[in-house]
Amino acid sequence: MSQSQYDYDVPADAPTYECAHCGRPFAREEWLALHRGLDHPAELDDEEVAAFRAAHDDEEDALGTFRLQALGALVLLYFALLMVYALV
Ligand SMILES: [Zn+2]
Repeated sequence: MSQSQYDYDVPADAPTYECAHCGRPFAREEWLALHRGLDHPAELDDEEVAAFRAAHDDEEDALGTFRLQALGALVLLYFALLMVYALV
């Protein structure tokens, strides 16, 4: 596979994880696992599938946490407005 297919600015001294299938570099091992699962699903071995599942679950968790925080912020804002109306 050719390395020149992707041309990203990666700091020379930064640790990168390169995709073994297309040579695309990633800053984090989880992102590489996600990329392998999304772009090369047919070429994964069991270990790589497990890594993809783990990375995918992490993303879902992060998303769920973000939704909860957004909901909490909305509820807080709602109550703050109620208090303003009650006091004015
Ligand atoms: Zn790849």
